[in-house]
Amino acid sequence: ESLNKGLEKSKESFFGKLGKALVGKATVDDEVLDNLEEILVSSDVGVTTTLKIIERIQARVARDKYLGTSELDRILKEEIASLLSENNADDVADFDTPADKKPYVIMVVGVNGVGKTTTIGKLSAQFKKKGKRVVLGAADTFRAAAVDQLKLWGERVGVPVVSRGMNTDPSAVAFDAVKEGVDQNADIIIVDTAGRLHTKVNLMAELTKIKRVMQKVIPDAPHEVLLVLDGSTGQNAMIQAKEFTKATEVTALAITKLDGTAKGGVVIGISDEFKIPVKYIGVGEKVDDLQPFNKTEFVDSLFR
Ligand code: GDP
Repeated sequence: ESLNKGLEKSKESFFGKLGKALVGKATVDDEVLDNLEEILVSSDVGVTTTLKIIERIQARVARDKYLGTSELDRILKEEIASLLSENNADDVADFDTPADKKPYVIMVVGVNGVGKTTTIGKLSAQFKKKGKRVVLGAADTFRAAAVDQLKLWGERVGVPVVSRGMNTDPSAVAFDAVKEGVDQNADIIIVDTAGRLHTKVNLMAELTKIKRVMQKVIPDAPHEVLLVLDGSTGQNAMIQAKEFTKATEVTALAITKLDGTAKGGVVIGISDEFKIPVKYIGVGEKVDDLQPFNKTEFVDSLFR
C-alpha cells in the first residue's frame, strides 16, 4: 500500500501540487510564493531557475499591485514558456536534418543507463520512416552489451551498424562509421560513444579525439552533439549536464524517461541553466516513444 502511495505521490502533477498550495488563498502573497518556490524545487526545476521564475512573478505582482491566485497558473505558464523560448525555437523540427549537411553527423554522449542506445534506435527508426538513409557507429567499445544492443536496434530498424572488437579505440570506430556513411551515401550518421564519466580529463580527451577523427572524413563533423539525460533522475541529470558541457560542446539535449514521472521540471532547469535546446524527449521504451520537443505542448502537459 505504501508503494502505491509513493507512486501516486511521484506522479502528482505540478498543477495538482499548485492547486493544493493555493487552497484558501485569494491573492499571491509571500506565503504563496514560498510554496511555489518549494513546488518548483521539488519538481526538479533547479534552484537557479526557480529563483528566476519567482523573481519574475514578484515583479509582476509589484507592477500590477495585485495578483489573484486564480491567475497564477496562467502567469506561471507564461513565464515558463518565455523561459523555454530563450533557448528553444518555435518551430520544432520533426525529425529533420539540414539539407545542406549530408551526411549529417550526430555524436551521442551521456552516461550509461540514461537511455542512449534506446534513443539512437528510436531516432534511427524515425529518420528511416522519413525515407532517410542512416548508418550507426557503435563507438561505446567498453561495454559488450552496448555494442550488442545497438546491433539489435540496427536489425530491428533495418539500418547498418559499424562496429569493431571490444576495447578498440572508440575513435577508430567513429572514423569507420563516418567513412562507411559517406561510402553508402547516407543522409545521417549517428555515433554512440562510451558513457564513462570517470575523470573529466579523460572524457574530454576521448570526445575531442572522436571529433578529430570524424573531421578527417567530414571537416565540419559532428554537426550535432546530442547529450542524452535521464529526466527521472532530477538533479543527477543536472550534474551530468554540467560535466558533459565542460568536456565538449553540447549542441542539443534528449531528455528520456519523462513518462510516468512528474519530474518534467528538470527540462525547464536544464534548458535554462545550460542554454542548450531540448531537441527530443523520451516518453517510453517503445520505438515510437521519442518526440521532438514542443515547448507549448510541454508546458501544457505540466498543468494538466
Ligand atoms: P544506455 O545505457 O544509456 O544506452 O541506456 P539504454 O538505452 O540501454 O536504456 C536503459 C533502460 O532505459 C532500458 O531499459 C530502456 O528501455 C529504458 N528507457 C530508455 N528510454 C526510455 C524512456 O523514454 N522511457 C522509459 N520508461 N524507459 C526508457
